[in-house]
Amino acid sequence: MGRRLGSLRLASVPWSQDQEFIYGTHEGLPLLKRNTAPRDVLATYRQLRARGLRPGGKDPVAVLITKHPASGKTNFSSLWQISECVPMRPMTPAKRASIAKATAARRVCRDCGEQGWKDLPVAFGRRCEACRSALGLYDEAMHEVLVGEPTLSAAEHAELDQALVDERAAAAAVIPLQRRAGVPTSASFRGAVIAA
Ligand SMILES: [Zn+2]
Repeated sequence: MGRRLGSLRLASVPWSQDQEFIYGTHEGLPLLKRNTAPRDVLATYRQLRARGLRPGGKDPVAVLITKHPASGKTNFSSLWQISECVPMRPMTPAKRASIAKATAARRVCRDCGEQGWKDLPVAFGRRCEACRSALGLYDEAMHEVLVGEPTLSAAEHAELDQALVDERAAAAAVIPLQRRAGVPTSASFRGAVIAA
């Protein structure tokens, strides 16, 4: 079974002048259970991001223990003191370009140069599925379902991808309608028959 939590006890903690209740320690940091950490004082990394903050080199001051109800898996999350955190660095055009470049590098096939929609596996030298198939390279799971020749060549794959790029560009070009105040929403029309 999972780890048994220590019993509640009062202890000195970094985020409060008073002693606070904690459930023992985890790797030297106070351990808190779900709904026992003060939400305006402590936050997980994702909660910091949602507030537009980053740890800024500060170490976590506590650990949050949660249990996934279905799998029973125990998770430990670091908690930072919100008052010690600093604003996130803004996204700049140069930073965006550098991230796009790194993303593309993981998605371009080393053999045919085709760019896919997800990272190509390192295990097969960042090769696309068509090139992998041509070389007879499959992972174990693919062996079970893939037999015979690939249905599309690398060039045909690239053509299909270009069609998808065009489709997405066309979809992005549609200007969304601005809804005026006081206009009924689609929810109020739900179930109603609207005459043409
Ligand atoms: Zn390829």
